Amino acid sequence: MTQDFAGRTALVTGGNSGIGRSVATQLAARGAHVVISGRDVARGQDVVAQLRAAGGTADFVQADLAELDSVRSLAKQAIELGGGHVDVLVNNAGIFPFGPTAEVADTDFDAVYAVNVRAPFYLVAELAPLMAARGSGAIVNVTTVVAYVGMSGMAAYGSSKAAVELLTRSWAAEFGAAGVRVNAVSPGPTRTEGTAVMGEGLDNLASTTPLRRVGTPDEIAAGIVFLASDAASLIHGATLPIDGGRLAV
Ligand code: NAP
Repeated sequence: MTQDFAGRTALVTGGNSGIGRSVATQLAARGAHVVISGRDVARGQDVVAQLRAAGGTADFVQADLAELDSVRSLAKQAIELGGGHVDVLVNNAGIFPFGPTAEVADTDFDAVYAVNVRAPFYLVAELAPLMAARGSGAIVNVTTVVAYVGMSGMAAYGSSKAAVELLTRSWAAEFGAAGVRVNAVSPGPTRTEGTAVMGEGLDNLASTTPLRRVGTPDEIAAGIVFLASDAASLIHGATLPIDGGRLAV
């Protein structure tokens, strides 16, 4: 069983930054036609240019995943770009505004649930039935260690990703018989554009893990790509922690 994606189309949400960009890069290097999405067109086009320069096949679709119409439109455009099929869906895009519960603005709360929960939900609603009709497909959701570990200041974010954990198992039950595998990864602290504002705070968080260091986007992407590949053919409904051992202790 290989990690070859030749002939397959993969939609990677948030593929223009951080973990998503690493996933897109690794999938393209393994032969996938990669469709990445994000709101920032310049960053999206930059990544596409890099992937193409390296010999890969890639497209960018601008989409605001806080808007349901945009989510549905992204799914349709990805199908079109894939010549009628999307074989791999990586629900990676996410937002993580932190703060005490009493200070979380209702607009932030709604945005967290719209981007982190509703968007993956409706992307799966649009794409998984088509995968099922073809008898194959792989979905990988990106959650977080704080979906498992209660952490002060991360109630809204952690709970949204805990919902995605349950969705992973629900979808495994719903689509498995049709040959569609659904799994998740739960990263620990990882250095990306999105966590740059945390500075040394990220190192402090990582110092509580047995490996005592922050992760790289490539390390998270390696697990995502494995789960999306045929090498993981019997792995289904599982979450792979990629967190330096944080959940082990
Ligand atoms: P990042 O560098 O901030 O990237 C986030 C991506 O999501 C960007 O591509 C961004 O694109 C996209 N995105 C955000 N809001 C969007 C919206 N409304 N519509 C469409 N796209 C949107 O973050 P990251 O650190 O790589 O995180 C990726 C995933 O890993 C997230 O789900 C995050 O929760 C999870 N995670 C990260 C860590 C960590 O320590 N980094 C740890 C655990 C889990 P645009 O800005 O162009 O829209």
